[in-house]
This record gives sequence, C-alpha cells and structure tokens, in this order.
Amino acid sequence: MRIMVQKFGGTSLATAEAREHVVRHIRRELETGYRLVVVVSAMGRKGDPYATDTLLEWVAENGGDLPVREKDLLLICGEIISATTLCGLLERESISSVVLTGAQAGFRTDEQFGNARILDVVPARVLDELSSKDVVIVTGFQGQSLNGDFTTLGRGGSDTSATALGAALHAEIVDIYTDVNGILTADPRIVEDAKPLSYVSYAEICNMAHQGAKVIHPRAVEIAMQSSVPVRVRSTFSDNVGTLVANPEGFKDVQTGIVDRFVTGIAYVSNVTQITVEAGEQGPHHLQLDVFKAMAENSISVDFINVTPAGAVYTVFDSDSIKAVAVLEELGFKPKVLNGCAKVSVIGGGINGVPGIMAKIVEALTEHHIQILQSADSNTTIWVLVHKEDMVQALRALHTKFELHR
Ligand code: ADP
Ligand code: ASP
Ligand code: MG
Repeated sequence: MRIMVQKFGGTSLATAEAREHVVRHIRRELETGYRLVVVVSAMGRKGDPYATDTLLEWVAENGGDLPVREKDLLLICGEIISATTLCGLLERESISSVVLTGAQAGFRTDEQFGNARILDVVPARVLDELSSKDVVIVTGFQGQSLNGDFTTLGRGGSDTSATALGAALHAEIVDIYTDVNGILTADPRIVEDAKPLSYVSYAEICNMAHQGAKVIHPRAVEIAMQSSVPVRVRSTFSDNVGTLVANPEGFKDVQTGIVDRFVTGIAYVSNVTQITVEAGEQGPHHLQLDVFKAMAENSISVDFINVTPAGAVYTVFDSDSIKAVAVLEELGFKPKVLNGCAKVSVIGGGINGVPGIMAKIVEALTEHHIQILQSADSNTTIWVLVHKEDMVQALRALHTKFELHR
C-alpha cells in the first residue's frame, strides 16, 4: 500500500476557496494511487471562528483562567471542527472518509498538558480504516495520555502529528501544505525577496525551525529525520511541489545534487528580554549557580547565555520577564533588564570555520546603524540580539548581504 500523509494548516482551511484547493489536492493524489491520511489543523488564525487562539480568547473572556488539563480539552475542539468540516466536503464530492481524533489514531503522549511529547503512535485503527475508506482524516496537534486524558502537542503541533503518522505508517511522503511556496530563505512576510529553496536537509530546516522559522515545527522535523520519511513543504494555493526535506542522499533525483551552500537562511525570534546580572560581592560561582537554578526551578527557559567572571547575561521570553526579575530580586540581585529585543539568526552548515562571516554580519548591521546587543555562534548558526524595532531591517540587511535573494 502506497501511503501518503497530507497536512493542511490553519490558513489552508480558513475559507471556502481554500478548502476547495484542499479537496483538489486530495482528489489529485487519490487519482495517483495513494492511500491518503489527511492531518488537519484548526481553521484560520487568531480572530477567525474556531481558530486555536480564538477558542482560548473566548474562554478567557467568558469563562476565566482554565487549568492546563481543561485548556487542552478546549483546544482539541478546533481540530475536530476542522476535520468534520472536511469530511462533509469530501462526502459531497463522493470521496469516502472517516474522522479520527488524535487519541483514536493512536497518539499516546506523556501528561505535559499544552506541550505533550508523543510516546508512540499505534496506528492500527488508521490502517484498518484505510482498507475501506478513500481518506482517513486525523485531527492534528493532539493525543491521549496513558491515563486517558486528552493532551495537545504544543503550538504548531499539527506538523508533528503529520510526520509522526508518516513515520508510524511508513508513508512514502509527508506533504505539509501551508500558505507559502515552501521553505524560503527567510520569512516572506518580512523579507519580500526571500527565495524558495527547492530542497533542504533535515538538519538545515531543523536548525532554522529551532531559531524561529515557524513554517514547520522543529519537533516534526526531528521525527521525520529519525525515520528518514521525506517531507515536502508546499503551498495549498498552487501546484508547485515546494521544498523537499530529506537526507542529502534523498536529493539524487533533484538536479542540484547535495546540499552545498554557505548560508541556508535567516530566522528570528521576537519578544525576548535581555537580563544582565552582575556578580557583585557574592562572587561569580554563587551567581551562576543561584541564577540558573532559580530560573529552572521556576520553569523559565533561558537562552543566549554568556557567563563571565563579572556576571551573566541571558535572555528570556518577554512573557516571562516579570517573573524572572522577581525571582532574581528575591535572591538579592539587582538585574538590568532590556525588554523588547529580537534574536536574529544566520543559519547554514557552510559557515563552519569560514573566516569573515561575523565581519560581514557586523558590516551589514552597522551600515544600517543597528546596534548589536549580544552575539554568539556555533558551527551552523550565528546569533545576534538587536532591539525589536531594528529586527525587520536587520533581517533584510543580512539577507541582502549574504545574497540570499539570488
Ligand atoms: P500553517 O497554519 O499552515 O501551519 P504557519 O503560520 O504555522 O502555517 O506557517 C507558515 C508561515 O511561516 C508563513 O506564512 C510564513 O510567514 C512563516 N515563515 C517563517 N519563516 C519562514 C521561512 N523561512 N519560509 C517560509 N515561511 C516562513
Ligand atoms: N491549531 C494548533 C495551533 O494553532 C496546531 C497547529 O496549527 O499546528 O497551534
Ligand atoms: Mg504551522
């Protein structure tokens, strides 16, 4: 049985016109001879009826603060509405389908509500239904804990549902349909001349996704990479095949051959706060131990960490900054706080050991009078922290400097 997994994101299901495209892609692949498993997200984005953010807002305004377990129960409704809508549309087109929730499709997770990890996928029911239906529709972003509670996989988690199912079903390919023409060298909403990439390795896009490129969830790529299931990221609104994500040897049928580029792309994470803590009289060891232990104990995730004998500089999400400062002050520190920063990353396996990359970055940013607040590098990524108001210009300047539009 040749199985294909298709995943349709929120904007791909938001309007009647978009849903017609969805049906078109389903019909085309059925005609090609695939057995189809279709994973759906909740329809639309913030403000649209039944979108994940809309559900959250509605309960916040009309109910109140929900416990995490009940929040997940609310969130899974968005994907159920979307899946049943699609089932009705397919029925009208004489395409038979069945809807399975994440739990029914065999997603077993831990109990971390709101950000559960998949323990395993037991797709017996999916396989069973595939033998009699044209399409099995699975609600993305959700699973069930071992004691039966419904869980969600973290925002953007339908991508993860799709690749996890692709791996469990030994699918030939997983197609992630979205509102852009594949993976581009930067977010096209910010960098207008960003260029679509015809292929990327799992490692390249995993890196970009971890650095904020939200076109695919990093966990989804990790799962695809572990099982070597090829993924295509493509647009719902065209027939272009988009970007192939695979191991470099999977590119042998692509003219361009192996991945051999310097910089793959540029990504960003906005809304971060820089915190500086000086060692003072307590000494550096005391500081390092106390600060990072306190952050961990309060579930505050830290990033961009520079530790020196004089103290520590690091970032937290803006949403955690008030809590982080309160924790530090309680320990007797007087942290310096800079809200409203953005982390900009230049990503590419080719930057390893190449001299002059940082010089190029500094040149691009200083030409636009953009202040670098902090920087760091690894063998595949160079990060710079800038003021949020400089972020858009920084992304465009770096994109041009590395000639990614060519
Ligand atoms: P979906 O609802 O289909 O999952 P998302 O909004 O989660 O869609 O992801 C698609 C969005 O990712 C695009 O609209 C685009 O703005 C953004 N994006 C960020 N970085 C990139 C990139 N490098 N390439 C393509 N899209 C990107
Ligand atoms: N609907 C969920 C979200 O908005 C999952 C997804 O879209 O992938 O985060
Ligand atoms: Mg998404």
